[in-house]
Amino acid sequence: MRRGLLLALLAGALLWGLPAGGHAAEQYTVIKNGEIPSQAGKGDTFTGTVRREHFFRPTEDAPYGVSLVTFDPGARTYWHTHPLGQRLIVTQGSGLTGTADGKVWEIKAGDVVWCPPGVKHWHGASPATAMQHLAIHGMKDGKMADWMEEVTDEQYAGRR
Ligand code: MN
Repeated sequence: MRRGLLLALLAGALLWGLPAGGHAAEQYTVIKNGEIPSQAGKGDTFTGTVRREHFFRPTEDAPYGVSLVTFDPGARTYWHTHPLGQRLIVTQGSGLTGTADGKVWEIKAGDVVWCPPGVKHWHGASPATAMQHLAIHGMKDGKMADWMEEVTDEQYAGRR
C-alpha cells in the first residue's frame, strides 16, 4: 500500500515534468533556417575559401557551439587552440589536420577528431579535394577558440 503510493507519487512527478532550474517554457525556442546567416570564413582565421554555418549562439545554460564548415581544396584554418577542446566530425570529402609538433593526419567523411584543450592545431581540406566538417566546442570565459598565425604552405604539406 505504502509502496504503491510512493510509485504513484513518483510517476506523478515524472508526468508533471518538474522544471529544471526553474526555466520557463517560454524559453523553448525554434531558430528558423536562415535566421543566422551563413558566413564566409574571415581572412584573419582562414586561408582560402571557407563557408561557415552557425546553427545557434552559445548561451549561459548551453555553453557550446556547433558549426558546419566547408573548405574548398587547399583551404584551412589558421593555427589555433580551444579552451575546452573540440570535436570535428568529417561529413564530406577528405582533408588534413595538423598539430604543432609537425604531425599531419589525413581525415575523411565519417572520421571524428578530438582536439584536447589548449593543443595548437589546424584543420582544412586536402590540396585537391573539398572537405566539410561539423565542429563542436565548449565556451569558456566567452571564448571557443584562440586564434594564432597562418599555416604556411610548408606546414600544410607536412614539410617542416
Ligand atoms: Mn580547431
